[in-house]
Amino acid sequence: MTPRLLLALLTLPLAAQTAPNSLFGTKASDLPPAGPVAQGVPPAAPAAGINAAQPDTSVVITPFRLLTLPEPKVSRTFQLSKLNRIGSFETTKELQRLYTAFAGQRIVDGSPAGSSKATGYLTTVNYALLQDLGDQRFLAKAAWPAAGPNDALAAGVDTMAVLLLDKPAKVGDTGKLTGMHVGMVAVLLTAEFPPLAGRRLTLRREAFVECATLEDSPAGLQRFAEAIAAGADLNVLTHEQASCKACGGLGFTREPQKGQLLDKRVPCAECASTGKVTVAVETKFVP
Ligand SMILES: [Zn+2]
Repeated sequence: MTPRLLLALLTLPLAAQTAPNSLFGTKASDLPPAGPVAQGVPPAAPAAGINAAQPDTSVVITPFRLLTLPEPKVSRTFQLSKLNRIGSFETTKELQRLYTAFAGQRIVDGSPAGSSKATGYLTTVNYALLQDLGDQRFLAKAAWPAAGPNDALAAGVDTMAVLLLDKPAKVGDTGKLTGMHVGMVAVLLTAEFPPLAGRRLTLRREAFVECATLEDSPAGLQRFAEAIAAGADLNVLTHEQASCKACGGLGFTREPQKGQLLDKRVPCAECASTGKVTVAVETKFVP
């Protein structure tokens, strides 16, 4: 294994590591030992000259820019036993809102709890498959709405992206999936689509893994509340509007002017004069 491939394995998001297949090809552990095949790279090419006419159609996918998720700034506890008590923030409406966020941040998988935390932003991707990259990975023309706080994942409009699908598909297929954004990858390939057909090139594209999210339904909420009551360690990250500390929520700060009665108002850069900031809040659920 080359150092670069080892690095790719070490820096893969958790979900990609645990998926049966990953964006970066068949897992090394699935391969026969001592085989020449690794990470989607075909067996070593014959010595130069013997087969020079054969075009190189190998595909290599490596991480280019990994995703960085926001760190929670504020931590709080949602106590289920305080639900709907006068003066507490633990209301049925707030529980429903937080559960909706929780459901949208969890992907259904084979873990014991039936789901695990998504390691990237989830969004709906409309796609048309352009090229098969092997192992159910595709280059696609895609469109998706922005996701995350302050549109951390920008929207895609008729944008090329790399998709890892959970079912077999073929070039030309169109569809819609719930995708977990896993950052940007570099794809080395020989293009099979116009106007680049036949050219060997590296593309850097946003990558999505197809997944299913937890069910946001009364039954799902019921199971969620039961899991908390049973002591499950559950939390959710949301982005809440809070008053700007720098300007006290006014949107400006005051600056005394020498020899003048009135202070000068300086627009607050921290909150762009809105008086409000978006804060990442982690809510832990307890019985
Ligand atoms: Zn401010």
